[in-house]
Amino acid sequence: MRRDDEALRPRSLDEFIGQKTVVAHLRVYIQAAILRNEPLDHVLFYGPPGLGKTTLAHIIARELGRDIRCFSGPLFTRPGDLAAALTTVTPCDVVFIDEIHRLPRQCEEILYGAMEDFTLHVLVGKGPAARDVAIHLPPFTLIGATTRVGLLSAPLRNRFGIVERLDFYSDEEIAAIVTRAAQLLGMTIAEDAAQAIACRSRGTPRVANRLLRRVRDFAEVLGQKHIDCGVVERTFRELGVDAWGLTKMDRGFLRVLCEQYAGGPVGIESLALVLGEDPDTLEEVYEPFLVKMGFVARTRRGRVLTPSGREYLKKVVLHEG
Ligand code: ADP
Repeated sequence: MRRDDEALRPRSLDEFIGQKTVVAHLRVYIQAAILRNEPLDHVLFYGPPGLGKTTLAHIIARELGRDIRCFSGPLFTRPGDLAAALTTVTPCDVVFIDEIHRLPRQCEEILYGAMEDFTLHVLVGKGPAARDVAIHLPPFTLIGATTRVGLLSAPLRNRFGIVERLDFYSDEEIAAIVTRAAQLLGMTIAEDAAQAIACRSRGTPRVANRLLRRVRDFAEVLGQKHIDCGVVERTFRELGVDAWGLTKMDRGFLRVLCEQYAGGPVGIESLALVLGEDPDTLEEVYEPFLVKMGFVARTRRGRVLTPSGREYLKKVVLHEG
């Protein structure tokens, strides 16, 4: 992770803007765990990328006064790797597994016992001589994060006592996040400029912070320490981000759906092939916001362009030529 990203991360629940219900729940669960001097129940965060799942995992560890160990699901290829990682845990630590839906099935199975009674069941040896060896772990809290909760097996999902969904932020919340981030980056920002960035941030703090950094580049090159609407508009023009916060890839998605597939229904793989993008990225990064905007609908038979999506295309893309 970039140092800048780290600097912008809120460090406590008080500093965390938005996701009010999730934050209110976490306050209670954390306080109760501290009062009982027990590890916090396992937590699963799900929702589109960049909404604060990793940030909340770090905040939980900090509020509990515990260490956090961070892992990424796809990095575990064999159950032994996961077992080795878990045996380094000390009592009440927080273990964070990002992209937990990409954990291989055998690794997932190792987690069941580890989550339930803090015991690892490892198969030692092969064939008739193989034995199940139980390794006892200290009690710990597992925090899993996923953009694709539907891909988690039911037994794994059921072992999380706390399951929280993160949703897109309101423009007001994103404007507050942008104002705070600008200060941390040593800039001041006009209220309408923060609002203008917020409107194009797809309800996502990560996008807001990324746009803010680009705006800062333009402002600094112009010798400005203050961000106003002028520099924001200019940056967006350069970046090809339109008034809805959609980028070239989003417009490509809608355009292919409209022009090559007559508005659908079409499978995500076909769209990905034409767009030269990975289907998972389309599905996890681009599509959720297009669905939220009401431009695309997901049906059993595939993706469909909605009447609002058609309207948008008429206004923006056809106008662009
Ligand atoms: P995820 O794990 O859901 O992909 P992250 O926790 O990595 O998202 O958040 C992405 C970036 O957005 C972080 O660098 C963090 O600075 C910022 N961020 C996320 N949520 C908030 C928030 N509620 N307030 C301020 N900044 C936030």
